[in-house]
Amino acid sequence: MIERVYLAKPRGFCAGVVMAINTVERAARELADKGDLVVFHSIVHNDVVVGRLRDEFGVHFVEDIAELAELEKKHKLARTIVFSAHGIPPGVREAVGRMGWNYIDATCPLVTKVHTEAKRYAQLGYTILLIGDSSNHQEVRGTFGEAPENTILVAVHTHVGRDPRLADPRTVRVPDPERVVVLTQTTLSVDDTDHTVAILQKRFPHLVLPSRDDLCYATKNRQDQVKRLAPHVDLFLVLTSSYSSNGMRLYEIASGLTAARRIDTAADLHEAWFEGVRSVGVTSAASTPEYLVAEVTAYLLERNPGLRIIEEGQWEKIRFREPGVVMPEN
Ligand code: SF4
Repeated sequence: MIERVYLAKPRGFCAGVVMAINTVERAARELADKGDLVVFHSIVHNDVVVGRLRDEFGVHFVEDIAELAELEKKHKLARTIVFSAHGIPPGVREAVGRMGWNYIDATCPLVTKVHTEAKRYAQLGYTILLIGDSSNHQEVRGTFGEAPENTILVAVHTHVGRDPRLADPRTVRVPDPERVVVLTQTTLSVDDTDHTVAILQKRFPHLVLPSRDDLCYATKNRQDQVKRLAPHVDLFLVLTSSYSSNGMRLYEIASGLTAARRIDTAADLHEAWFEGVRSVGVTSAASTPEYLVAEVTAYLLERNPGLRIIEEGQWEKIRFREPGVVMPEN
C-alpha cells in the first residue's frame, strides 16, 4: 500500500510553454474568420497538448514549409504561421516571407538568447561547439541554422554514439583552438553538461563560455527537485512525451537515483508497478499539462485510502510576453 506521494514543485509548464500555447490559442481564435492557423513543428513537445490544439482549435502542424502549398489546396488557411517554442533556422522565416504569409514567432526568449550568441560569435570568426542531445531536435536545428558554417554539434559525454552527427567532446577538432566558444541546448542535464564543458575546457584552454545560463531556469529547477525527492521515494513517475528533451532528462536523472517510469498519462499506469512501493514521486516535463498530474494523483488516491500528498517547494513566477503578428516585407 502506498503511504506517501511527493509531488515535485516546480513541475510542468514553464514560461516559454505557457507563452507558446497561449499564442496559438489566441491567434487561432482571432483568425478564425480568415481560416485555420498553421504551426511550424509541434508547438511544444507534448502529444496531448498538440492533439487538443488540433481538435479544439483546428490548428494544422507542419514540419516543412513545402507542405503549406498542399495544405492550402485542402483547407481554408489564415495564411499565418506560428513558429514553435523551440525556435527555427532563419531559412524557415525567409521561406515564409517569400510565400507572402504572416508569421508569429513563439520561440522561447531563452532559446532566442542562444541564437543571438551563435550569430555574434560566428561574426567574430569563432567555431561554435553546440552541445545538444540530437541533431534532429528542433531547437538544435534552429540554433545550428544561425551559423551552420561555424558550428560543430557535440554530444553530451554520456550520450556519445547515440547520434552519429554529434561529435565526441573528447575527440572533436576545431580549426583554431584559440577561437572556440561553447553553447548548449537549453534542456540538457545540468550535471552532464557541466561535465561535458569541463572536458572541452581541458582540451581547449581558451574556450569561451558566453553564459552559464544557456540551460534554462525551468530545466534546472525541475532537475533539482527530482534530485531532492528521489532519495525519499521507492518509485518516481515522470509524465512526459518520449520526444521531450527536458522530460527525458528528468526521467534519466530519476532512473539513476531510484526506480522510475515514464508515462504519457495515467492510462499508462500498471498496478503491478506499485507492489511493495510505499512512497511515490511525481514530476512532469515543462510541456506536460497539470491536469495529467492530477489524474495520476487521483489514480493513486483511489487505490490507497489514507494516502498523504506531500508538495514542498516554490512555483516559478517568470512570465514571457506573447509575440505579435509579423507581416511579410514587400
Ligand atoms: S524549457 Fe526553458 S527554454 Fe524551453 S521553452 Fe521552457 S523556459 Fe524556454
